[in-house]
Amino acid sequence: MEIKVTLTDHPRQKPDESKLGFGKLFTDHMFLMDYTADKGWHDPRIVPYGPIPMDPSASCFHYAQEIFEGMKAYRTEDGKIQFFRPEENFKRLNSSCERLVIPKLDEALLLEGLKKLVTIEKDWVPSAPGTSLYIRPFIIANQEVLGVHPSANYIYCVILSPSGAYYAGGINPVRIYVETKYVRASQGGMGAYKTGGNYAASLIAQEEAERQGFSQVLWLDGVERRFVEEVGSMNVFFKIDGEIVTPELDGSILPGITRKSVIDLLKNWGMPVSERKLDIHELEQAACEGRLEEAWGTGTAAVISPIGELKCGDTTTIINENKIGPVSQRLYDTLTDIQWGRVEDRFGWITPCC
Ligand SMILES: *Cc1c(COP(=O)(O)O)cnc(C)c1O
Repeated sequence: MEIKVTLTDHPRQKPDESKLGFGKLFTDHMFLMDYTADKGWHDPRIVPYGPIPMDPSASCFHYAQEIFEGMKAYRTEDGKIQFFRPEENFKRLNSSCERLVIPKLDEALLLEGLKKLVTIEKDWVPSAPGTSLYIRPFIIANQEVLGVHPSANYIYCVILSPSGAYYAGGINPVRIYVETKYVRASQGGMGAYKTGGNYAASLIAQEEAERQGFSQVLWLDGVERRFVEEVGSMNVFFKIDGEIVTPELDGSILPGITRKSVIDLLKNWGMPVSERKLDIHELEQAACEGRLEEAWGTGTAAVISPIGELKCGDTTTIINENKIGPVSQRLYDTLTDIQWGRVEDRFGWITPCC
C-alpha cells in the first residue's frame, strides 16, 4: 500500500529542549489509516497533526475498544535517528488487536509508516542527553452505534512527542507499597494487553499512593492477592539472595519489551535470572531478613526505575540504602548506551530510521 503524504503549511517552531517534559508537545504531522469492513485497513497517510472528527456515538467512547503502544526514537551522537526493537511493539499491537477483537495490521507496513513519519519529523527528535521522541501508536473503534459489539470501523493513528530526560535530576529510587485493595487485572482479563482500560482501572490506586507520598503501587494477582505482578505500569524485578526474579508471564502481566531485553542481558552476563511466581510473603520475608538486595521496575519511559523503599503491611524496608544497586545501574547503562547508539548493538535490537 502506498503511504500518501500531505505536509503542513504551518510548521511550528521546535521547542526548547530543556523544557520538554513528557507527552505535552506534539510534532507537525501524524500517521493515519482507516479500517472498514468492505475495504479492510486502507488509506495509510501522513497528514498535518490535528483533531480527528468523530461522531459522539463512536464505539471507543462508550465501550473502551482501544489499544496503544509506546516506543521511542533516539538521536545518536552522529545525528542519526534509530528505534529500539520496534518490530516487537508492532507484534504486541497485533496481539492486543486479537484480544480486543480489532482486525490485525500488516506489521511491515506499520514499520514503514513509522520510518516515513519520523523521517519527515526528524528535526523534532531532540539531541540533549536523555531526550527522545516518544512514539504513541493507537487504535480506536469508530463505528457509530451504541450496540455492544466489536466495532465495524477503526482508526489507526501514530502521534509523536519530543520528550525530556526521564532522570533529569539524577536517578532517584521510588517509594512503593503493596496494593491490597485494588487489582489492575486478573486471569482471563486484559492485563497482558496494552489497552486504556487497564490504566483506567489503575488510576485510583496511583492517586491514593501519591496522596500518601508514594510514587507507585506493587500490584498483586487479582485472584489470590498473593503473587507479585507489576509495579505501577512497569514490569518488576527483585534480586533476592543473588537470584534475580521477575514474575512469569501468566496472562495478566504485560509482556514488556524492556523486561524481555533485561532478561536477555542478565542471561548474557551469566547472572541467575528466573521467571517464576513470586509470593508476596516470600518477598516480605526476604526484605525483613535483609536478603532483598535490589528491586527495580522496567519500561520504555524510565528504562530502569530503582525501588528504594517497599512498604508491605506495617513493615517498611529500605532497599540497598535507598540507592540504585549495581545490577540496576549496569542494566540502565547498557540499555541506554545501546538505545542512544553509544555502544555497538550486539543483540540486533536497533533499527535505523534516518
Ligand atoms: C507498556 C507497559 C509495560 C512496559 O512495557 P515496555 O515494552 O517495556 O515499555 C509494563 N506494564 C504495563 C502495564 C504496560 O502498559
